Amino acid sequence: MTSAFKTVFRAAAAIVLAGAVSTPAMAAEGKPAKELFGAMKLPSRAAPQPFGSYAKGCQAGAVAIATDGPTWQAMRLSRNRRWGQPEMIALLERFSKDAVQLGWGSGILIGDISQPRGGPMLSGHASHQVGLDADIWFTPKPAQPLTPEQREKMPFTSMLDKSKFLTVDSKRWTNTHAKLVVRAASYPQVERIFVNPAIKKKLCDTWTGDRAVLGKIRPIYGHDEHFHIRIKCPEGASGCKPQAAVPPGDGCDASLAYWFTPAPWAAPKKDPNAKPAPKPRAMQLSDLPQACSAVLQAPAGDAATAVASGMDPTPPTASAFVEPQTSSDAAMALPPVIPVPKARPLQN
Ligand SMILES: [Zn+2]
Repeated sequence: MTSAFKTVFRAAAAIVLAGAVSTPAMAAEGKPAKELFGAMKLPSRAAPQPFGSYAKGCQAGAVAIATDGPTWQAMRLSRNRRWGQPEMIALLERFSKDAVQLGWGSGILIGDISQPRGGPMLSGHASHQVGLDADIWFTPKPAQPLTPEQREKMPFTSMLDKSKFLTVDSKRWTNTHAKLVVRAASYPQVERIFVNPAIKKKLCDTWTGDRAVLGKIRPIYGHDEHFHIRIKCPEGASGCKPQAAVPPGDGCDASLAYWFTPAPWAAPKKDPNAKPAPKPRAMQLSDLPQACSAVLQAPAGDAATAVASGMDPTPPTASAFVEPQTSSDAAMALPPVIPVPKARPLQN
């Protein structure tokens, strides 16, 4: 918690004690929600629950995927974004085993999932806010475990031939890459997979298996060095706002062809006489579902108990992390131990 944040809460508490009609949430108003959620080091101690939508929400009772599993490694540990809803974590564990079966090295490299309490982030994604999104590298996990430093610095590998327009690099892209992405899309709880349009086109042109599942694989900017798995709102998660279902069919249609026209890549037209547009207002806590104020204020999960359960083969220590060089803010420091779930539902 930053000292500024503490000050805000303390001030708010004082107002509440004085009997005024105010809440910490009201006091936090004015500060971008990404600063509030970005400062959270641990999840809330509560039943797991996503609130809101993928790009405007938060999560309660998140669990972390272990930094190291038999068939996965989590990357960029300093970001502290390996938190998700139990359904997401369980799916990643399952997928990592299936990846090995497909011949994807010794497993998967996992990028960002969500922050401990979800919410908007100080850098990167617009989505990943409710613990139901995860990024997977287009690089298999090497047999030798990567050191924390390697996990910070290892560069991404693009699957595109950058000398051409929207073209997959045939020297890098293999049939195993295709099988990996299609497998991810095949799970019933997966709602969408996001990939670069060139990758989607490659799948459309070459996939000979079940075409129905291709429809879940959606083209989007970026996503040429990793792909993005999005799962549905878990059953009974009444605060979770679902997305529209993907249209029927394999998606190898006009919705893909659009990406190969100039429109998505053209710079926005500027009217030389127009006033400069005002800077868009950062998302505030009050823009998020009301439950997110409670998520922010809830006590943290008990790190000691969770690690003592022995679910994490290598409980991370603060010294094992490389601090981000862009910030000397103490708020970026990680807790000495990061809790992991005691029970994993949907283990298989
Ligand atoms: Zn993503």
